[in-house]
Amino acid sequence: MIKLEHVNMSFRGNQILADINLEIAEGETMVIIGPSGSGKSTLLRLMIGLLKPSSGQIWVNGREISGLPEDALNEVRKNMGMVFQYSALFDSMTVGENVAFGLRQHTDKSEQEIADTVEQMLTMVGLAGQQNVMPGELSGGMKKRVSLARAIAINPAIVLYDEPTAGLDPIMSSVIDRLINDTKKMLKVTSVVVTHDMPSAFNVADRIAMIYDGSIIEQGTVDDIRRSDNPIVQQFIHGLLQPDIRERR
Ligand code: ADP
Ligand code: MG
Repeated sequence: MIKLEHVNMSFRGNQILADINLEIAEGETMVIIGPSGSGKSTLLRLMIGLLKPSSGQIWVNGREISGLPEDALNEVRKNMGMVFQYSALFDSMTVGENVAFGLRQHTDKSEQEIADTVEQMLTMVGLAGQQNVMPGELSGGMKKRVSLARAIAINPAIVLYDEPTAGLDPIMSSVIDRLINDTKKMLKVTSVVVTHDMPSAFNVADRIAMIYDGSIIEQGTVDDIRRSDNPIVQQFIHGLLQPDIRERR
């Protein structure tokens, strides 16, 4: 469903990602782990076509997207939902309007169909009846759930999550993990979850890839990662790795 081949990414001559090769199968949940500043969000932005790689190819559902113009990218994005790191809700719109946003942009559903879908999505994330609440009145965990409802309302084949549990307490994190797993099962989506929260990674992953300083240093099943003989992987999964490598740049 998603394939990256020899992807390199530089910003103003500063190489952020180096020779990334990654394949994500249909219906699979791939978790990308790694310290802050290692290039995880950049990888997601490449997958959804918000950034173009400096070199290499990115295939989404059979199409190579790195050379596509904006209108063709918009077609590809109709099949992708993204849950951004800071929820990225529109603060001046109600919860209902936030969830309806992609439906209005990407589909020609009637107002009644939109209202029905919004209600279904909010019910699915445990926020039934909250259509008229403003985002400012919600807790961090509720915002994340609205963001997820907005991402899946367009019935995407792929959902990308950037740090979905960041800043949440362990109970709310496990609620989000369960929703990621429910979304996978009910909507049969392919998921890519970027996180540095190891309990969450182990709760949702079919496979895990670890990125460190712009390279994938290990990938495999949850068991493969747990048994990795790479000391950096072991330090990271046990919470012993220096949390931020940006200072070294
Ligand atoms: P992560 O999500 O793993 O924390 P990011 O992908 O956000 O890492 O960032 C990786 C590196 O790329 C960081 O050093 C960051 O400062 C740099 N970076 C990210 N986006 C840009 C950009 N648009 N312009 C310049 N540098 C960027
Ligand atoms: Mg990030």
